[in-house]
Amino acid sequence: MNEPATNPDPAAIAVKMRVIPRDQHRISRKDISSGALRVLYRLNEAGYAAYLVGGAVRDLLLGGHPKDFDIATDATPEDVKRLFRNCRLIGRRFRLAHVVFGQEIVEVATFRGSSDDGSGDRHVVDGRILRDNVYGTIEEDAIRRDFTVNALYYDIADFSVRDYVGGYDDLDARVLRLIGDPVQRYREDPVRMLRAVRLAAKLEFAIAADAREPFADLGELLLHAPPARLFDESLKMLLAGNGAKSFRALERSGLLDDVFPLTARALAFRGGEQYRALIEAGLAGTDARIAQGKSVTPAFLFAILLWGAVRAQVEREVARGTEVNLAWQRVSHQVISEQAKHVAIPRRFGLVMQEMWTLQPRFEQRQKKRVFRLMAHPRFRAAYDFLLLRAAESPAMAELAQWWTQAQETSHEGLAEQLSAIPEAGDAALPAESVAPKKRPRSRRRGKPASPPRAAVE
Ligand code: ATP
Ligand code: MG
Repeated sequence: MNEPATNPDPAAIAVKMRVIPRDQHRISRKDISSGALRVLYRLNEAGYAAYLVGGAVRDLLLGGHPKDFDIATDATPEDVKRLFRNCRLIGRRFRLAHVVFGQEIVEVATFRGSSDDGSGDRHVVDGRILRDNVYGTIEEDAIRRDFTVNALYYDIADFSVRDYVGGYDDLDARVLRLIGDPVQRYREDPVRMLRAVRLAAKLEFAIAADAREPFADLGELLLHAPPARLFDESLKMLLAGNGAKSFRALERSGLLDDVFPLTARALAFRGGEQYRALIEAGLAGTDARIAQGKSVTPAFLFAILLWGAVRAQVEREVARGTEVNLAWQRVSHQVISEQAKHVAIPRRFGLVMQEMWTLQPRFEQRQKKRVFRLMAHPRFRAAYDFLLLRAAESPAMAELAQWWTQAQETSHEGLAEQLSAIPEAGDAALPAESVAPKKRPRSRRRGKPASPPRAAVE
């Protein structure tokens, strides 16, 4: 877990334990990973409390198949380390134990306390909390979690489920309810708003009214959330199999403005509906790839989310007289820097995005040499996949995308022959609203054919 150390005031939250015995819930040990079971049993045999907790319990109760299993215990990380040779301690702020079984990593966390009463191991230097090992009781551990349905504990001692905050009933009613006062919990950690949107979309749950209402006022707190954390959360939201649903939910929640302001603005502009279709198609395609077990890259996702802004700004720059290739280069860079103030975009993805974008105008140039040069470009495939999405923008783009699809299916000789008919320096069949180079300065065209555009892509 990766949330701040602030926790709710336990006095403000009603805690009442309810035990759901093994024969009254649907969790079966055969659905729990072998690694998690081994950790639970070993802790229990050594005399510690050991529970499966969080998303895994929630998903098992819903009949799903959790991808990771988190464990909560009253054993300290050092105790855990003594019990497992395959264990490493991680985390500086709050120490966690990772027990490793081949591919599987089981995260074991000691019950976390609610406040610093001096009993814990808290190290504060210059006002910053460097280590925050304030251990607590299971009740305290439950109430500092975000949603009631995320605070259910499966007890390995008797296979019962323990509920301290009403999560079992909320799960039944399919509602996400924050533990404690929503405004306070969002102020402690604004990313919880995005978690609400993401989990509601993924689980097809409703967000409780009092957990939805603060979005309008508190959404802007996300402007100050750490960009690296928002990057992680964005991937969980949009690149984990439920991207299309999550994006719609994010837009509806109003939080898109705070996390992807450039996207929100582009959707509100002229042509917003076509752009929405492009985003929908891109996310649906990504979801389908994930469902088929294929790889997906954050570069493609962010290239989609920022395309509206890139396109509009290039148009503006060109209208102002900036040379076309320079405009593409400059705008690509600017848009990424602007977005990275909110959501971090690691450099390696930023570079791929810039290439995908700056190659787009080159699809509109269909002179023989240029076509073959573009096809040989190392980033051609990614840029072409992006072009296919752009087919949603206009009939002219759909036609262009189709042309390139056919071009790839045509033999080299066949294509060469077809293209010989197109004059080298002409502007062959450019879509009307194209932002490709329209006319090059006369002087550069005299004599030899103009050299192909060289953006920052080669
Ligand atoms: P997913 O299915 O996406 O993994 P999850 O609920 O398991 O959903 P994790 O990020 O794996 O999400 O977190 C595990 C558990 O840690 C949550 O179920 C919740 O109990 C707690 N948690 C995570 N993030 C926060 C947060 N920001 N504030 C409070 N509790 C949190
Ligand atoms: Mg999880």
